[in-house]
Amino acid sequence: MCLTKFSCPTCGHGYEDELEILNEGELHDFKCEKCSNPFYVLIKECVKCTVDTVFVWREKPTWETVSLLACGSCGTSYAQPDDSDEEDS
Ligand SMILES: [Zn+2]
Ligand SMILES: [Zn+2]
Repeated sequence: MCLTKFSCPTCGHGYEDELEILNEGELHDFKCEKCSNPFYVLIKECVKCTVDTVFVWREKPTWETVSLLACGSCGTSYAQPDDSDEEDS
């Protein structure tokens, strides 16, 4: 289990999801406790390597933006189902 960490995109103030209150795959809106600017956090778990990647935006991302995201560890797109082409070489 690794701690989910992210920081405010405006001032860089760091946060930790110690209690794991943030659900994966759901967009969460935050207000920075330091600079009071809003930001959005999305946590995605990779189907391939099971690594959680945290995405942070200053403005609410469109669904299109979210659908283009890929795993920060292995680069697998979250939008693509994994069973079509195996490209492990
Ligand atoms: Zn801030
Ligand atoms: Zn991955």
